[in-house]
Amino acid sequence: MVKTLIRGRLLVWSAAAELRTDAALLVEDGAITAVGDEALRRADGATRRLDFPEQVIAPGLIDSHVHLMWSGEPARNGIDPLYAAIGQPPATLTVRTVTNLRAALSRGITTVRDCGGLADVIIPVARAVRDGLLVAPRVVSGGAPITSTGGHCWFLENEADGEDGVRRAVRRTHKAGADFIKVMATGGGTRGTNPRAAQFGPAELEAITHDAHRLGLRASAHAHGTEGIERCVAAGFDGIEHCTWLARDGNGEDYRPATVERIRNRRIFVCKTIAGFERWPLEEIEAAGKRHPGWRKFATFRDMLAAGVTVIAGTDAGITDTNFVDLARTMETMVGLGGMSPAAVLQSASATAAKALALDGAIGTLEAGKRADCILLDDNPLEDVRALRSVRAVIRDGEMVARDGYVLAAPHPRT
Ligand SMILES: [Zn+2]
Repeated sequence: MVKTLIRGRLLVWSAAAELRTDAALLVEDGAITAVGDEALRRADGATRRLDFPEQVIAPGLIDSHVHLMWSGEPARNGIDPLYAAIGQPPATLTVRTVTNLRAALSRGITTVRDCGGLADVIIPVARAVRDGLLVAPRVVSGGAPITSTGGHCWFLENEADGEDGVRRAVRRTHKAGADFIKVMATGGGTRGTNPRAAQFGPAELEAITHDAHRLGLRASAHAHGTEGIERCVAAGFDGIEHCTWLARDGNGEDYRPATVERIRNRRIFVCKTIAGFERWPLEEIEAAGKRHPGWRKFATFRDMLAAGVTVIAGTDAGITDTNFVDLARTMETMVGLGGMSPAAVLQSASATAAKALALDGAIGTLEAGKRADCILLDDNPLEDVRALRSVRAVIRDGEMVARDGYVLAAPHPRT
Protein backbone atom coordinates (compact mmCIF):
# COMPACT_ATOMS: atom_id res chain seq x y z
CA MET A 1 0.00 0.00 0.00
CA VAL A 2 1.31 3.48 -0.91
CA LYS A 3 2.15 5.58 2.09
CA THR A 4 2.05 9.38 2.00
CA LEU A 5 4.00 11.64 4.32
CA ILE A 6 2.63 15.16 4.81
CA ARG A 7 5.13 17.55 6.36
CA GLY A 8 4.83 21.16 7.50
CA ARG A 9 6.37 23.74 9.83
CA LEU A 10 3.83 23.37 12.64
CA LEU A 11 0.91 21.03 13.28
CA VAL A 12 -2.45 22.00 14.74
CA TRP A 13 -3.53 18.43 15.45
CA SER A 14 -6.42 19.69 17.57
CA ALA A 15 -7.69 23.26 17.83
CA ALA A 16 -8.02 22.70 21.59
CA ALA A 17 -4.43 21.59 22.19
CA GLU A 18 -0.83 22.74 21.91
CA LEU A 19 0.84 22.96 18.52
CA ARG A 20 3.32 20.28 17.59
CA THR A 21 6.64 21.21 16.06
CA ASP A 22 7.20 17.68 14.73
CA ALA A 23 4.67 18.49 12.04
CA ALA A 24 4.20 15.28 10.09
CA LEU A 25 1.35 12.92 9.25
CA LEU A 26 1.75 9.46 7.76
CA VAL A 27 -1.24 8.46 5.66
CA GLU A 28 -2.22 5.01 4.45
CA ASP A 29 -5.37 4.39 2.44
CA GLY A 30 -6.69 7.87 3.30
CA ALA A 31 -6.30 7.46 7.06
CA ILE A 32 -3.65 8.87 9.39
CA THR A 33 -1.57 6.02 10.78
CA ALA A 34 1.14 8.00 12.60
CA VAL A 35 1.77 11.57 13.72
CA GLY A 36 4.96 13.57 14.37
CA ASP A 37 8.30 11.85 14.90
CA GLU A 38 6.68 8.43 14.63
CA ALA A 39 5.37 9.34 11.17
CA LEU A 40 8.87 10.39 10.12
CA ARG A 41 10.35 7.16 11.45
CA ARG A 42 7.85 4.97 9.66
CA ALA A 43 8.21 6.68 6.28
CA ASP A 44 10.53 4.85 3.86
CA GLY A 45 12.02 5.22 0.39
CA ALA A 46 8.74 4.26 -1.28
CA THR A 47 6.71 6.82 0.66
CA ARG A 48 5.13 9.59 -1.40
CA ARG A 49 5.92 13.02 0.06
CA LEU A 50 3.87 16.20 0.31
CA ASP A 51 6.32 18.73 1.73
CA PHE A 52 5.25 22.17 2.94
CA PRO A 53 8.27 23.34 4.94
CA GLU A 54 6.88 26.87 5.46
CA GLN A 55 3.27 25.97 6.23
CA VAL A 56 1.10 25.17 9.24
CA ILE A 57 -0.97 21.97 8.97
CA ALA A 58 -4.49 22.28 10.42
CA PRO A 59 -7.64 20.14 10.33
CA GLY A 60 -9.86 20.52 7.25
CA LEU A 61 -12.74 22.88 7.94
CA ILE A 62 -16.37 21.87 8.49
CA ASP A 63 -19.20 24.17 7.40
CA SER A 64 -22.14 22.85 9.39
CA HIS A 65 -24.91 24.71 7.57
CA VAL A 66 -25.09 25.06 3.80
CA HIS A 67 -27.69 24.74 1.04
CA LEU A 68 -25.73 23.26 -1.83
CA MET A 69 -28.55 23.46 -4.35
CA TRP A 70 -28.87 27.26 -4.21
CA SER A 71 -26.56 29.74 -5.87
CA GLY A 72 -25.71 32.12 -3.01
CA GLU A 73 -25.88 34.99 -5.50
CA PRO A 74 -27.55 38.34 -4.89
CA ALA A 75 -31.25 38.55 -5.73
CA ARG A 76 -31.86 39.05 -9.44
CA ASN A 77 -34.85 41.13 -10.50
CA GLY A 78 -36.05 40.80 -6.93
CA ILE A 79 -35.84 37.00 -7.01
CA ASP A 80 -33.77 35.34 -4.28
CA PRO A 81 -31.69 32.20 -5.05
CA LEU A 82 -34.03 29.90 -3.14
CA TYR A 83 -36.93 30.95 -5.38
CA ALA A 84 -34.78 30.94 -8.51
CA ALA A 85 -34.19 27.20 -7.97
CA ILE A 86 -37.91 26.33 -7.99
CA GLY A 87 -38.84 24.37 -11.10
CA GLN A 88 -35.26 24.02 -12.35
CA PRO A 89 -34.43 20.60 -13.85
CA PRO A 90 -32.77 18.29 -11.30
CA ALA A 91 -29.70 18.05 -13.56
CA THR A 92 -29.24 21.84 -13.44
CA LEU A 93 -29.51 21.80 -9.65
CA THR A 94 -27.08 18.88 -9.47
CA VAL A 95 -24.49 20.78 -11.51
CA ARG A 96 -24.98 23.77 -9.20
CA THR A 97 -24.49 21.51 -6.18
CA VAL A 98 -21.23 20.11 -7.56
CA THR A 99 -19.93 23.59 -8.46
CA ASN A 100 -20.67 24.86 -4.96
CA LEU A 101 -18.98 21.85 -3.37
CA ARG A 102 -15.81 22.44 -5.37
CA ALA A 103 -15.81 26.15 -4.47
CA ALA A 104 -15.97 25.19 -0.79
CA LEU A 105 -13.21 22.63 -1.24
CA SER A 106 -10.92 25.22 -2.83
CA ARG A 107 -10.93 27.19 0.45
CA GLY A 108 -10.23 24.31 2.77
CA ILE A 109 -13.73 23.10 3.58
CA THR A 110 -13.47 19.33 3.56
CA THR A 111 -16.89 18.54 5.06
CA VAL A 112 -20.27 20.24 4.76
CA ARG A 113 -23.62 19.55 6.31
CA ASP A 114 -26.43 20.29 3.87
CA CYS A 115 -29.39 21.70 5.77
CA GLY A 116 -31.96 21.55 3.01
CA GLY A 117 -32.44 20.91 -0.68
CA LEU A 118 -34.41 18.51 -2.85
CA ALA A 119 -33.75 14.96 -1.65
CA ASP A 120 -33.38 13.74 -5.26
CA VAL A 121 -30.53 16.19 -5.83
CA ILE A 122 -28.60 16.32 -2.57
CA ILE A 123 -28.62 12.68 -1.53
CA PRO A 124 -27.28 11.24 -4.83
CA VAL A 125 -24.48 13.84 -4.80
CA ALA A 126 -23.61 12.96 -1.18
CA ARG A 127 -23.47 9.30 -2.27
CA ALA A 128 -21.28 10.10 -5.30
CA VAL A 129 -18.79 11.84 -3.01
CA ARG A 130 -18.85 8.92 -0.59
CA ASP A 131 -18.27 6.46 -3.45
CA GLY A 132 -15.25 8.41 -4.71
CA LEU A 133 -16.90 9.46 -7.98
CA LEU A 134 -16.53 13.13 -7.19
CA VAL A 135 -13.63 15.02 -5.61
CA ALA A 136 -15.46 17.24 -3.13
CA PRO A 137 -16.00 17.84 0.56
CA ARG A 138 -17.81 14.95 2.25
CA VAL A 139 -21.52 15.76 2.47
CA VAL A 140 -23.69 15.09 5.50
CA SER A 141 -27.20 15.50 4.15
CA GLY A 142 -30.57 16.12 5.73
CA GLY A 143 -32.25 15.58 2.37
CA ALA A 144 -35.39 17.70 2.24
CA PRO A 145 -36.25 19.51 5.49
CA ILE A 146 -39.57 18.61 7.10
CA THR A 147 -41.88 21.62 7.15
CA SER A 148 -45.57 22.27 7.75
CA THR A 149 -47.90 22.77 4.79
CA GLY A 150 -46.94 26.09 3.23
CA GLY A 151 -44.20 26.47 5.86
CA HIS A 152 -40.60 27.59 5.50
CA CYS A 153 -39.08 26.01 2.35
CA TRP A 154 -42.30 24.17 1.45
CA PHE A 155 -41.01 24.00 -2.14
CA LEU A 156 -38.38 21.45 -1.10
CA GLU A 157 -41.25 18.97 -1.10
CA ASN A 158 -41.36 17.56 2.41
CA GLU A 159 -44.51 19.12 3.89
CA ALA A 160 -46.15 17.25 6.78
CA ASP A 161 -48.71 17.97 9.47
CA GLY A 162 -49.92 16.18 12.57
CA GLU A 163 -48.09 13.52 14.55
CA ASP A 164 -48.71 10.77 12.00
CA GLY A 165 -47.80 13.06 9.15
CA VAL A 166 -44.46 14.17 10.56
CA ARG A 167 -43.59 10.61 11.59
CA ARG A 168 -44.20 9.54 8.02
CA ALA A 169 -41.99 12.42 6.85
CA VAL A 170 -39.13 11.25 9.09
CA ARG A 171 -39.46 7.72 7.68
CA ARG A 172 -39.66 9.02 4.11
CA THR A 173 -36.50 11.13 4.66
CA HIS A 174 -34.65 8.22 6.21
CA LYS A 175 -35.74 5.92 3.39
CA ALA A 176 -34.44 8.43 0.85
CA GLY A 177 -31.01 8.15 2.46
CA ALA A 178 -30.63 11.28 4.60
CA ASP A 179 -27.90 11.30 7.26
CA PHE A 180 -29.91 13.39 9.73
CA ILE A 181 -33.36 14.92 10.06
CA LYS A 182 -33.75 18.65 9.49
CA VAL A 183 -36.94 20.31 10.61
CA MET A 184 -38.20 23.83 10.03
CA ALA A 185 -39.57 24.50 13.52
CA THR A 186 -40.41 28.16 12.86
CA GLY A 187 -40.99 30.22 9.75
CA GLY A 188 -38.06 31.83 7.99
CA GLY A 189 -37.14 33.69 4.84
CA THR A 190 -39.94 32.05 2.82
CA ARG A 191 -42.71 34.48 1.92
CA GLY A 192 -45.86 33.94 3.92
CA THR A 193 -44.17 32.24 6.87
CA ASN A 194 -43.65 33.68 10.35
CA PRO A 195 -40.12 33.32 11.77
CA ARG A 196 -41.35 34.39 15.21
CA ALA A 197 -43.93 31.63 15.55
CA ALA A 198 -43.53 27.85 15.87
CA GLN A 199 -44.75 25.91 12.81
CA PHE A 200 -45.25 22.66 14.71
CA GLY A 201 -46.87 21.82 18.02
CA PRO A 202 -45.00 20.13 20.91
CA ALA A 203 -46.46 16.69 20.11
CA GLU A 204 -45.41 16.89 16.45
CA LEU A 205 -41.86 17.89 17.39
CA GLU A 206 -41.65 15.07 19.90
CA ALA A 207 -42.90 12.57 17.31
CA ILE A 208 -40.08 13.73 15.02
CA THR A 209 -37.25 13.35 17.55
CA HIS A 210 -38.55 10.02 18.84
CA ASP A 211 -38.70 8.52 15.38
CA ALA A 212 -35.40 10.06 14.24
CA HIS A 213 -33.64 8.69 17.33
CA ARG A 214 -35.29 5.30 16.88
CA LEU A 215 -33.66 5.20 13.43
CA GLY A 216 -30.29 6.31 14.83
CA LEU A 217 -30.47 9.76 13.24
CA ARG A 218 -29.84 13.14 14.81
CA ALA A 219 -32.53 15.80 14.54
CA SER A 220 -31.73 19.47 14.09
CA ALA A 221 -34.22 22.31 13.91
CA HIS A 222 -34.25 25.65 12.17
CA ALA A 223 -35.63 27.99 14.84
CA HIS A 224 -35.64 31.78 14.96
CA GLY A 225 -38.48 32.45 17.38
CA THR A 226 -38.24 31.75 21.09
CA GLU A 227 -41.49 29.77 20.97
CA GLY A 228 -39.97 27.34 18.46
CA ILE A 229 -36.61 27.17 20.26
CA GLU A 230 -38.29 26.26 23.56
CA ARG A 231 -40.46 23.59 21.97
CA CYS A 232 -37.41 22.04 20.28
CA VAL A 233 -35.45 21.92 23.52
CA ALA A 234 -38.42 20.28 25.25
CA ALA A 235 -38.82 17.78 22.36
CA GLY A 236 -35.22 16.59 22.61
CA PHE A 237 -33.66 18.01 19.45
CA ASP A 238 -29.89 17.51 19.09
CA GLY A 239 -29.23 20.79 17.34
CA ILE A 240 -30.74 24.22 16.83
CA GLU A 241 -29.96 26.26 13.73
CA HIS A 242 -29.88 30.09 13.84
CA CYS A 243 -31.28 30.33 17.39
CA THR A 244 -31.99 34.05 17.16
CA TRP A 245 -34.49 34.35 20.06
CA LEU A 246 -37.12 36.42 18.25
CA ALA A 247 -40.05 37.39 20.46
CA ARG A 248 -43.39 35.88 19.44
CA ASP A 249 -44.99 39.32 19.23
CA GLY A 250 -43.68 42.74 18.29
CA ASN A 251 -40.27 43.09 16.70
CA GLY A 252 -37.88 42.50 19.59
CA GLU A 253 -36.02 39.58 21.12
CA ASP A 254 -37.03 37.30 23.95
CA TYR A 255 -33.90 35.67 25.35
CA ARG A 256 -34.61 33.03 28.02
CA PRO A 257 -31.66 32.23 30.32
CA ALA A 258 -33.39 29.16 31.83
CA THR A 259 -33.81 27.62 28.36
CA VAL A 260 -30.22 28.50 27.49
CA GLU A 261 -29.12 26.62 30.58
CA ARG A 262 -31.02 23.58 29.36
CA ILE A 263 -29.38 23.93 25.93
CA ARG A 264 -25.98 23.98 27.62
CA ASN A 265 -26.65 21.12 30.02
CA ARG A 266 -27.99 18.84 27.30
CA ARG A 267 -25.13 19.84 25.00
CA ILE A 268 -27.49 20.79 22.22
CA PHE A 269 -25.39 22.09 19.33
CA VAL A 270 -26.24 25.63 18.31
CA CYS A 271 -25.29 26.65 14.79
CA LYS A 272 -25.72 30.39 14.67
CA THR A 273 -25.35 30.79 10.97
CA ILE A 274 -23.48 33.93 9.91
CA ALA A 275 -24.44 34.67 6.31
CA GLY A 276 -22.99 37.05 3.73
CA PHE A 277 -24.90 40.11 4.89
CA GLU A 278 -23.82 39.72 8.53
CA ARG A 279 -20.14 38.86 8.27
CA TRP A 280 -17.27 41.33 8.11
CA PRO A 281 -13.46 41.37 7.95
CA LEU A 282 -12.02 41.26 11.46
CA GLU A 283 -10.10 44.54 11.11
CA GLU A 284 -13.33 46.33 10.24
CA ILE A 285 -15.04 44.96 13.35
CA GLU A 286 -12.06 45.75 15.58
CA ALA A 287 -11.85 49.32 14.30
CA ALA A 288 -15.50 49.99 15.14
CA GLY A 289 -15.73 47.94 18.36
CA LYS A 290 -19.10 48.31 20.04
CA ARG A 291 -20.13 50.91 17.46
CA HIS A 292 -20.03 48.28 14.75
CA PRO A 293 -23.44 47.85 13.03
CA GLY A 294 -23.40 44.13 13.88
CA TRP A 295 -22.59 44.51 17.57
CA ARG A 296 -26.16 44.77 18.84
CA LYS A 297 -27.37 41.95 16.60
CA PHE A 298 -24.86 39.52 18.12
CA ALA A 299 -25.86 40.21 21.75
CA THR A 300 -27.78 36.97 22.24
CA PHE A 301 -24.94 35.02 20.58
CA ARG A 302 -22.47 36.51 23.08
CA ASP A 303 -24.90 35.72 25.92
CA MET A 304 -25.17 32.08 24.80
CA LEU A 305 -21.38 31.78 24.61
CA ALA A 306 -21.01 33.30 28.07
CA ALA A 307 -23.53 30.73 29.34
CA GLY A 308 -21.36 27.92 27.97
CA VAL A 309 -23.49 26.79 25.03
CA THR A 310 -21.78 24.51 22.49
CA VAL A 311 -21.51 26.43 19.24
CA ILE A 312 -20.65 25.21 15.74
CA ALA A 313 -19.73 27.32 12.70
CA GLY A 314 -22.04 27.61 9.70
CA THR A 315 -22.55 30.02 6.84
CA ASP A 316 -26.02 29.27 5.41
CA ALA A 317 -24.18 29.35 2.06
CA GLY A 318 -26.58 29.24 -0.87
CA ILE A 319 -29.03 31.80 0.47
CA THR A 320 -29.05 35.35 -0.89
CA ASP A 321 -25.59 36.95 -1.07
CA THR A 322 -23.91 34.06 0.73
CA ASN A 323 -21.25 32.21 -1.22
CA PHE A 324 -19.54 28.92 -0.36
CA VAL A 325 -16.00 30.27 -0.02
CA ASP A 326 -16.24 32.66 2.93
CA LEU A 327 -16.50 30.37 5.96
CA ALA A 328 -13.27 32.10 7.03
CA ARG A 329 -15.08 35.43 7.19
CA THR A 330 -17.92 33.88 9.19
CA MET A 331 -15.23 32.66 11.61
CA GLU A 332 -13.66 36.14 11.78
CA THR A 333 -17.06 37.53 12.70
CA MET A 334 -17.38 34.91 15.46
CA VAL A 335 -14.12 36.28 16.89
CA GLY A 336 -14.95 39.96 16.35
CA LEU A 337 -18.63 40.10 17.31
CA GLY A 338 -18.89 36.91 19.37
CA GLY A 339 -15.73 37.53 21.38
CA MET A 340 -14.53 33.95 20.80
CA SER A 341 -10.82 33.11 20.76
CA PRO A 342 -9.35 31.95 17.42
CA ALA A 343 -8.84 28.51 18.97
CA ALA A 344 -12.49 28.28 20.06
CA VAL A 345 -13.67 29.31 16.61
CA LEU A 346 -11.41 26.80 14.89
CA GLN A 347 -12.73 24.16 17.30
CA SER A 348 -16.31 25.09 16.29
CA ALA A 349 -15.40 24.38 12.65
CA SER A 350 -13.48 21.18 13.35
CA ALA A 351 -13.72 18.89 16.40
CA THR A 352 -17.00 20.24 17.81
CA ALA A 353 -18.63 20.27 14.39
CA ALA A 354 -17.46 16.69 13.85
CA LYS A 355 -19.27 15.73 17.07
CA ALA A 356 -22.43 17.51 15.96
CA LEU A 357 -22.33 15.63 12.66
CA ALA A 358 -21.66 12.31 14.46
CA LEU A 359 -18.37 12.06 12.56
CA ASP A 360 -15.98 12.58 15.46
CA GLY A 361 -14.60 9.08 14.97
CA ALA A 362 -13.39 10.10 11.50
CA ILE A 363 -12.66 13.83 11.28
CA GLY A 364 -12.19 17.02 13.32
CA THR A 365 -8.67 16.38 14.63
CA LEU A 366 -5.47 15.09 13.05
CA GLU A 367 -4.55 11.97 14.96
CA ALA A 368 -3.99 8.31 14.20
CA GLY A 369 -7.16 6.59 13.05
CA LYS A 370 -8.79 9.71 11.62
CA ARG A 371 -9.13 10.56 7.93
CA ALA A 372 -6.32 12.71 6.53
CA ASP A 373 -8.38 15.85 5.83
CA CYS A 374 -6.17 18.89 6.34
CA ILE A 375 -5.26 22.35 5.15
CA LEU A 376 -1.92 24.11 4.77
CA LEU A 377 -1.71 27.71 5.95
CA ASP A 378 1.06 30.32 5.97
CA ASP A 379 0.32 31.43 9.54
CA ASN A 380 -0.88 29.92 12.79
CA PRO A 381 -4.71 30.08 12.94
CA LEU A 382 -4.71 29.68 16.73
CA GLU A 383 -2.99 33.06 17.00
CA ASP A 384 -4.95 34.88 14.33
CA VAL A 385 -8.07 33.49 12.66
CA ARG A 386 -7.21 35.53 9.56
CA ALA A 387 -4.66 32.85 8.74
CA LEU A 388 -7.64 31.02 7.19
CA ARG A 389 -8.02 33.66 4.48
CA SER A 390 -5.43 32.07 2.27
CA VAL A 391 -5.37 28.32 2.19
CA ARG A 392 -2.26 27.15 0.32
CA ALA A 393 -3.30 23.56 -0.16
CA VAL A 394 -6.18 21.27 0.72
CA ILE A 395 -5.73 17.57 1.40
CA ARG A 396 -8.72 15.25 1.52
CA ASP A 397 -8.28 11.60 2.51
CA GLY A 398 -4.54 12.04 2.02
CA GLU A 399 -4.79 13.36 -1.57
CA MET A 400 -3.94 16.93 -2.50
CA VAL A 401 -7.20 18.21 -4.01
CA ALA A 402 -6.69 21.99 -4.16
CA ARG A 403 -3.81 24.45 -4.33
CA ASP A 404 -3.87 28.26 -3.98
CA GLY A 405 -7.62 28.36 -4.44
CA TYR A 406 -7.78 26.04 -7.46
CA VAL A 407 -9.29 22.59 -7.28
CA LEU A 408 -6.91 20.16 -8.92
CA ALA A 409 -7.91 17.84 -11.73
CA ALA A 410 -9.55 14.77 -10.29
CA PRO A 411 -7.52 11.61 -10.00
CA HIS A 412 -9.07 8.59 -11.72
CA PRO A 413 -12.15 7.33 -9.94
CA ARG A 414 -11.32 4.53 -7.54
CA THR A 415 -11.71 1.13 -9.10
ZN1 LIG B 1 -30.35 27.44 6.25
